[in-house]
Amino acid sequence: MQAIQVDQAGGPEVLRYREVPTPTPGPGMVRVKVHAAGVNHREIWVRQGTVGGASYPYIPGSDAAGEIDALGDGVDGSLEAGLRVVINPGVFCGKCAACLAGDHPACAAYRLVEGTYAEHVIVPQSNVVPMPTGLTFAEAASIGVPFVTAEAAWQAAGVLPGQTVVVFGASGGLGTAAVQLGKLRGARVIAVTRRSTKVEALRKLHSDEVVVWDPARPLEGEIKDLTAGRGADVVLDSLGKASFGLSLTMVHRGGLVITVGATTGGQVDVNLAEIFRRRISVIGAFMGSAAILPRILPLFARGQLMPVIDHVYPLEQADQAHEQLERGDVVGKVVLEV
Ligand SMILES: [Zn+2]
Repeated sequence: MQAIQVDQAGGPEVLRYREVPTPTPGPGMVRVKVHAAGVNHREIWVRQGTVGGASYPYIPGSDAAGEIDALGDGVDGSLEAGLRVVINPGVFCGKCAACLAGDHPACAAYRLVEGTYAEHVIVPQSNVVPMPTGLTFAEAASIGVPFVTAEAAWQAAGVLPGQTVVVFGASGGLGTAAVQLGKLRGARVIAVTRRSTKVEALRKLHSDEVVVWDPARPLEGEIKDLTAGRGADVVLDSLGKASFGLSLTMVHRGGLVITVGATTGGQVDVNLAEIFRRRISVIGAFMGSAAILPRILPLFARGQLMPVIDHVYPLEQADQAHEQLERGDVVGKVVLEV
């Protein structure tokens, strides 16, 4: 099969399009013929070597949609060749206390599916979810990681109808998911973007307010103005270095900051007094329970959620897809068509 393979850490040029052996599913596993694979920031960090654990060579990619084309021994009878599926990207042991509680990302064995930048990928049978009708493969492949992460973050924050939430990086894959899921929870969503060219797209997602962040202007004041001086209830921060200090000042006393990514860098300089004196909670969010994806997929079929795709590249142009995502020049997702 054709696949993108990485032999060493580096820039987008280490994503090599080449022929590799087509894998055969073992017991309890299914093989999915990939039609589209979503590109996530995490794959850039793994490629660069900033997120460790890669054993070379490897095929990147955790999100995909396609159809089952081979079954390992003992696979459940409800799954058959030809079934269109979305890959649920979290893999876990299923037996530990965290797994039994449904808190899969807390499982010591938790990892993401790897290998969707390819014509075929093998996943455990529990990692495929039937694909809703009315979605294209590219749309279905753009849901997994961002929507599961955003939904888990709002769930962890316990966001309530009428609360005000701020979403940094609102035009990215995670951001566009967070804006929509925040609205669905009844929150008032303030979307923050650094590019004025993205305002229209964020309005289309029904953001209550869209703030263009010019680092020369005090964003904190703008958020105070929009909240009658009080500050936000929750800030979702996926930028890290560029915004984390601001996030702490933007929530009201007793408010909550969720750190969910670090697209501008992970080393931040924080005055702890900001946190303890103002009784701010900071939580980290990474992925979520395996129950989330099957729960929210029907909302796409009903039009209550919308996959947002910026650009679709053919698989062999994975390097260009990574370059675009690294530039931050996206509204929504970048997807590979296989
Ligand atoms: Zn477990």
